Amino acid sequence: MGNKKILVIGSYNVGLACRTERIPVWGETLLAKNFSESNGGKGANQAVAASKLGGDVSFVGCLGNDKFGNDGLNMLKEQNVDISTIFRSDKHTGVGFILLNNEGENCILVDSGANNDLVSEEVINAEKIENSDIVVFQLENNLALIEDLMKHAYYLGKTTILNPAPANKDAKRLLKYANIVNPNETELLLLNNEDLYTKLDDKMCEELARNLLKQGPEYIIITRGAKGAMIVSSNKCVEIKGINVSPIDTTGAGDSFTGGLAVALSEGKTIEDSVNFANYVGAYSVTKRDVIPSLPTRNEVNNFKY
Ligand code: ADP
Repeated sequence: MGNKKILVIGSYNVGLACRTERIPVWGETLLAKNFSESNGGKGANQAVAASKLGGDVSFVGCLGNDKFGNDGLNMLKEQNVDISTIFRSDKHTGVGFILLNNEGENCILVDSGANNDLVSEEVINAEKIENSDIVVFQLENNLALIEDLMKHAYYLGKTTILNPAPANKDAKRLLKYANIVNPNETELLLLNNEDLYTKLDDKMCEELARNLLKQGPEYIIITRGAKGAMIVSSNKCVEIKGINVSPIDTTGAGDSFTGGLAVALSEGKTIEDSVNFANYVGAYSVTKRDVIPSLPTRNEVNNFKY
């Protein structure tokens, strides 16, 4: 039997970044440096992450009928992602304006544009969910739409993965339709209504994950940055140690981890082996700059020296 089919439903955004010493105040124009344009959006990142690793991946999202939308489609096609069910709208393609300073900090403004025009009935009618095995969601689209589609996938018996990012406490209502949820530590705290500055030790991570398990999922996989990951299920708690690397740019680590997880599961690997694989993929991605260019191919993961 071949590998299972992965469907990522989510956002596509183009990132427009430049470097500045400070953020301008209202009414001020500042000259910036190092402008760059990059493809992104959590949905697209995760689809490309899984495809580069050899997964059989489709992406469902909504892009504008504009130059950014055309560029996005071309990029996804070049990365071997099935784009036969991508929608286009009259709104502009989602865009993020990223200001970077010399200390490596950033601030970002996102205008989701066409991402908000994805319509659940249209996605359901396209029957892409029926024809997939593993369906991956994140939280950059409208929550009601995500809820409709997750519910649909879940009741069709698909394996649903929810990467609850960016952090949103209202995403609690999605837990009952998720087989696997992979929050980072901040998202785990928020889904538990805990103070976001709480320092999480192993015991507390497990406890908070167990609270989420009560709401439906079979597995909570907590991603813990350099510390690796933790898998919590009803009868087990397994720690997957972090890989010791020198991080260059940690943006997109969660997306590469989610892509790796979906691919390993699509190959029939166990949950532990899948999280182990995703942990290497996440660690690899932080050793390279940017998001999509930092996503490894299968060979790059296999030959990863750390
Ligand atoms: P997010 O990017 O969503 O905040 P994390 O920071 O938890 O998520 O990173 C996701 C995964 O990427 C981690 O579970 C780990 O596998 C890997 N990772 C992230 N940062 C590092 C790091 N500094 N060293 C090694 N692996 C890392």
